[in-house]
Amino acid sequence: MTEKLLLHIGGQDVPAADGRTFVVHNPATGEPLLDVAHAGRSDVDDAVAVARAAFDDGRWRSVRPRDRARILNRAADRLAERVDDWARWETLQIGRTLREMRAQLARLPEWLEYFGAVAQTAEGTVPEFGEGYLNVVRRVPLGVAGLITPWNHPLLITMKKLSAALAAGNSLVIKPSELGPAVPHRLAMLLEEAGVPPGVVNVVTGFGATTGRALSEHPGLGKLDVTGGTETGRVIAANAGHALIPVTAELGGKAPVLVFDDADVDQAVAGALFAAFIASGQTCVQGARVLVQRGSYDAVVERLAARTRELRLGDPLDLQTQAGPLVSAAQRDKVAAAVDRAVRQGATVLCGGRVPGGEALQRGWFYEPTILTDVAHDHDLWREEVFGPVTLVAPFDDEADAIAQANDSPFGLAASVWTRDVGRALRVCDQLDVGIVWVNDHHRIDPASPWGGAKDSGLGSENGLEAYHAYTRPKSVVVNTGADRFDWYATTGDLRYS
Ligand code: NDP
Repeated sequence: MTEKLLLHIGGQDVPAADGRTFVVHNPATGEPLLDVAHAGRSDVDDAVAVARAAFDDGRWRSVRPRDRARILNRAADRLAERVDDWARWETLQIGRTLREMRAQLARLPEWLEYFGAVAQTAEGTVPEFGEGYLNVVRRVPLGVAGLITPWNHPLLITMKKLSAALAAGNSLVIKPSELGPAVPHRLAMLLEEAGVPPGVVNVVTGFGATTGRALSEHPGLGKLDVTGGTETGRVIAANAGHALIPVTAELGGKAPVLVFDDADVDQAVAGALFAAFIASGQTCVQGARVLVQRGSYDAVVERLAARTRELRLGDPLDLQTQAGPLVSAAQRDKVAAAVDRAVRQGATVLCGGRVPGGEALQRGWFYEPTILTDVAHDHDLWREEVFGPVTLVAPFDDEADAIAQANDSPFGLAASVWTRDVGRALRVCDQLDVGIVWVNDHHRIDPASPWGGAKDSGLGSENGLEAYHAYTRPKSVVVNTGADRFDWYATTGDLRYS
């Protein structure tokens, strides 16, 4: 039995103009789950026009910041009441365990609260323009923002972008991943219940190559914000460049987990396990390269492999399950192919490395949590993002070697450093070419803390004041406060020093 999901434009649920739909499957069972409207170019045109009209008539951007904050706080309270139901939906669509999705969604009201507070407290500036002038610089919203989001954290990533964008007074058109559209759609309706006027938040569901492309090429946008793979990010950033609009792009990663000899081995192993296998490895900051100092290498590898073998795969709705399926058959096949290629290039499988047996697991798109050793720096597995439950372990000699190996990657999103030496932790953090570093932890996020990467991991960042500013532009008003009359052409001579 499949539920129907329509587009959400101007406060209404509407079918695609040409009536096309597509089906979302439950990755744990392969069964059809949702019949979803597939937005074509004309639907995207409608959504952008509606969002533009909502921006132009000021129904949201002219709402006083304290009232905007009140509405975002009300939405946060309503979201908190729906966490269990929505977490279940996330699990049904993308296969991540219910335990993970409940923990993640329970925190999402914080984003609406934080950015509501930013809307109320953000201030402009008054630069020293010089005698006889007052220069007031205000931050104003950008217009219609196009948000293009992936499937691995459907609501978290939508929420990060949306709360900053709404707090600043923009209107939105959201294109969720074709694999996880249900909850972003519900969020648009919840925001309207809480008081965001219809037309401000619109959702167009569909595929990247059709709906996503139509949105990212639309001339009516004032901002593009994408989270996705690096190649998708390049295409969307090029469209933004062509339209001369700002872009935020949160892209791929290959995060190193650096374990020094002085680290607490049990904690470091627990941390590496958490880094590598949460979301079945389908996170941009996945600990995909566990680099261990030679003195503790054998102990760490042995314990990490033992704990990995114990992870319980199964029905993601069961709260005892620790690892669900991958999101799709295509993703599972891509992961299996990456492991096979690594082995052909000389890697050794320490554990996992196969599709699990058993009838229940064979119905869904499962892959065993996998650890590889003997992966050289020129192997594909060192350089490419797998986006699945696969990590490599490699030794390093000293601090300099750890930093060199960690930085030897096209990506620069995140890293974690495990050590009890605070000086070493800070020295290493300084030299890692990434946007986010955790010390004795991994994966931690807060709405106030910037989230973004270097190199092929993207442009700009989500969260914090940076994200709020990235949804505004400065507007500089220069006021002549002098009493003297001015007439350039009534004077002659060199005025350079006047
Ligand atoms: P994709 O790049 O495949 O897709 C991301 C979004 O872009 C989806 O909505 C997709 O639509 C859409 N899209 C795809 N092609 C185009 C196009 N040509 N024009 C416009 N839109 C397009 O990523 P995934 O969904 O597979 O997500 C995984 C990737 O996201 C990984 O690389 C991961 O590292 C990255 N990611 C980065 C994060 C960060 O914070 N840096 C956080 C989470 C993930 P559709 O799905 O419908 O095809």
